[in-house]
Amino acid sequence: MEDIFNGIEPQVYKSQISVPYQWWAGETASKFFITLRDEKKILGKQCPQCGKVFCPPKKTCTYCYVETNEWKEVGPKGKVLTYTIVYRQLASLKKKVPVACGLIQLEGSDNAMLHYIEEIEPEKITTGMQVEAVFADEKSASIHAISHFRPVK
Ligand SMILES: [Zn+2]
Repeated sequence: MEDIFNGIEPQVYKSQISVPYQWWAGETASKFFITLRDEKKILGKQCPQCGKVFCPPKKTCTYCYVETNEWKEVGPKGKVLTYTIVYRQLASLKKKVPVACGLIQLEGSDNAMLHYIEEIEPEKITTGMQVEAVFADEKSASIHAISHFRPVK
């Protein structure tokens, strides 16, 4: 075997960089998050042309390209469209792995939000199963105002 290191043992060091950043969530997401925090209500936004309700809300309908204009309360129940089990502890994960994450379509919404699915063994999760939002004890104007979704009992 060719010695590409000229007889020197290669040394590998682990390091990390931190890249803090922030951005304005915009008026649509801000209202969505503030309502989650202050009223524990999940809002979607409706397209005036096709009538679809988006939750998480969208400022513009992805089908008609017109501005959504009417806020609608959706959920807190919904169904699991798809899910996965996360085993790698990424910095962005607020929960300890392994944790289930799923796309949840809330009642009254035409799209789905990504969130944690807990209070069930991951191997018992199925697509189509009914779940409900569990609000976090700690208030925050973010998606973490919802702690997770759990099966409807
Ligand atoms: Zn539309």
